[in-house]
Amino acid sequence: MDRSLEDTLSDEIRKLIIIGSGPAGLTAAIYAARASLAPLVLEGEPSSTTDQPGGALMTTTEVENFPGFPDGIMGPDLMANFRQQAERFGAELRMEKVSRVDLSSRPFQLWVGDPDANEPTYRAEAVVISTGARPVMLGLDREQELVGHGVSTCATCDGFFFRDHDIAVVGGGDSAVEEAIFLTKFARSVTIVHRRDELRASKIMRERAFANEKIRFEWNAVVDSIEGETAVTGVTLRDVGTGEVRPLAVTGLFVAIGHQPNTDVFKGQVAMDDGGYVVTTPGGTRTDVEGVFACGDVQDHTYRQAITAAGSGCMAAIDAERWLENPH
Ligand code: NAP
Repeated sequence: MDRSLEDTLSDEIRKLIIIGSGPAGLTAAIYAARASLAPLVLEGEPSSTTDQPGGALMTTTEVENFPGFPDGIMGPDLMANFRQQAERFGAELRMEKVSRVDLSSRPFQLWVGDPDANEPTYRAEAVVISTGARPVMLGLDREQELVGHGVSTCATCDGFFFRDHDIAVVGGGDSAVEEAIFLTKFARSVTIVHRRDELRASKIMRERAFANEKIRFEWNAVVDSIEGETAVTGVTLRDVGTGEVRPLAVTGLFVAIGHQPNTDVFKGQVAMDDGGYVVTTPGGTRTDVEGVFACGDVQDHTYRQAITAAGSGCMAAIDAERWLENPH
C-alpha cells in the first residue's frame, strides 16, 4: 500500500468499523449509515467458491423465506441488494480481510495484510463483528485437493457441472437436504449419506426430500474415503453400526455438515463459548468488551437464518450508535 495512504488510514479514527459483509454486517451498515456514523465495512475477500465476499448467501440457491420476496430471490442477488442499500446511505465497503485486531484499549486497532506490521491499518471507536461461520469439512484425505474436482460445499456454484451425474450429499440437516433438492435439477441421482437413521432437517424439508424421486438415502453411514486421482470417481461408505464398508459410485460429493464460526482473529480478545462463537449479552449484541458488538452467525448457533442475522445486525448498529453517544 502507498505509504502516505497508509499514514492517512492509520491517523484517522473511524466511528464504526464493521467486520464482515453478510446479512448481519450489511444490515448493521445500512442502519449505521442512516445514523450518520459513516461506517467502514471490511468485507473480507473472495473465497474459492465466490468471486465476492458476502457471506453464506453467496453460495445459496433460492432463498424462499426472506420476508419481502414472495417469489423467492437468489442468495447472491439478495446480497447485491444489501450492498446497494448500504452504499446508498454512505457506508464504505472495502474488500479487505482483517488479519489482526487489538481490542484491549480504545480506539480499537485493526490490521489488514501483514499482522506483524507495527502500525494498524485502521482505528475505530466502535467495532461490530459479523464474520459469520464457514462450512465444516469431513477431514478426509484428498478432500481438500478434490474441491473443485468433484468435492463441493456449494450446490449453487457447482450443481451445473453435474448434469446427469450421480451425486452424494453428506449430512442430515436443512443444508444437506436443501443442497440435495437443488442438485436434483441437474443430477441423475442424489444420495443423502447420513450418520443416523433420521434427518435433523425441518419437517417441510424432510417431506420434500422424501417426495423427490431422484433422492435416495444411505442411513447410518459415513464417508470413509474418496476415490479418484484427478476427480471424484466414487466414495467408500462405512456403516456406523456394523463397520461394513461398501462402495458408492458417484462423481460428486457435496459436504453439508454444519459450520464453524470465523473467530480465529478475535481469540483472546472477546469472550467466546466452547464452540468458538462470540458471546453476546442475552437479547442484545454487546460483547464483554465495551464498544465491541457482534451479530449474525458468528454469535448465533441456534437460528442461523439470513433474517435473524439481518435482525441482529440492526440491533448491533443501534447498540453501537447508543454506545457511541455515551461511551463508558
Ligand atoms: P446442522 O443443522 O448442524 O446439521 C449438520 C448435519 O451434519 C447433521 O445432520 C449432522 O448429523 C451431520 N454431521 C455433522 N458432522 C458430521 C460428520 N463429521 N460426519 C457426518 N455427518 C456429520 O447444519 P446445517 O444443515 O448446515 O444447518 C445449520 C442451521 O441453518 C440450522 O439451524 C438449519 O435449520 C439452518 N438452515 C436452514 C435452511 C432453510 O431453512 N432453508 C437451509 C440451510 C440451513 P447429526 O444430525 O447426527 O448431528
